[in-house]
Amino acid sequence: MHEFSITQDMINVVVDQAKKSGARKVKRVSLALGELSSVTEESVNFCFQALSKGTIAEGAELIFRTVPATYRCHQCQEQFSGEEDRLTCPRCGGSQISLVEGNDILVESIEAEA
Ligand SMILES: [Zn+2]
Repeated sequence: MHEFSITQDMINVVVDQAKKSGARKVKRVSLALGELSSVTEESVNFCFQALSKGTIAEGAELIFRTVPATYRCHQCQEQFSGEEDRLTCPRCGGSQISLVEGNDILVESIEAEA
């Protein structure tokens, strides 16, 4: 399942960072979840509980922040957010648009017990 591999990567990052800072237990993890990402808060929560068992991240609370999709125009470098099917730049009308953020899940910060 897609969610499992995404969440496993996320846990690896969390455990790695926590260990580097000398933490023994992760209490809280803040996540930026892109609105176009293929996973939901519920599925990430579910996978996290299952996959973090036995790691220092077990039982940590997940806090989600939704990141809107942001696009950039190749012609004028304007950045804008909008619907997925909105494919023209609001500034110059250009149609060469690429997604800058909003399609993945990122670990923003970790709260841990030393
Ligand atoms: Zn433009």
